[in-house]
Amino acid sequence: MTLRSEIVEAARRMTSLGLNRGSSGNISARDGEGMLITPSGIPSEEMDETQIVAMAVDGSWEGGHRPSSEWRFHRDILAARPETHAVVHAHPVYATALAAHGRGIGAFHYMVAAAGGVDIRCAPYATFGTQALSDHVLSALEDRSACLMAHHGMIACGADLASALALAVEVEGLAAQYIAASTLGPPPELSEEEMARVLEKFQAGYGYASGLEAEIEPSA
Ligand code: 13P
Ligand code: ZN
Repeated sequence: MTLRSEIVEAARRMTSLGLNRGSSGNISARDGEGMLITPSGIPSEEMDETQIVAMAVDGSWEGGHRPSSEWRFHRDILAARPETHAVVHAHPVYATALAAHGRGIGAFHYMVAAAGGVDIRCAPYATFGTQALSDHVLSALEDRSACLMAHHGMIACGADLASALALAVEVEGLAAQYIAASTLGPPPELSEEEMARVLEKFQAGYGYASGLEAEIEPSA
């Protein structure tokens, strides 16, 4: 399978998982010095690999389809993080509900560590497609592989498309759990010591990414 068709498949998967709908969200993957990115404004059901846009690091591109309006944060994340090869952006219901309040996710559950730290931050709001939004997102992603985006949605990064998508699924699940737990009052948080232990176990190779990938394998 080509990287272009992997991107189209991942975009369709995000729709079928309920993470995106219509033309919300976008996906990029590192491609040599540049990146491949989903076209702007095309629902995943109508997307095909010829519409995937090849973009150079300076933002230049060729072809009949405009790149995602969010190419700046995709490009900037890939440039800043050599270990990241794929970035997914979505507007899933629960993560976006928290982000509408400018709220991140604290250590109410140990799986928050799947995003690399003791919390999942929420980047401040800026207009979609702007350099300001990209700058906010890069700060929120410091030492993390996912963040929420105020009044907008979420971003997850990974070493490949499968792990970025798996992390997006996990973050949306955590957001739903956090909102459910919050209906009983503010959920207590795990201690810093406990989260340090969990993060150490993840770093020592607890295969959360591969485990999550298995969870979201298509059943057919
Ligand atoms: P694009 O269709 O331009 O990728 O925009 C979707 C989106 O989610 C903007 O934030
Ligand atoms: Zn968006």
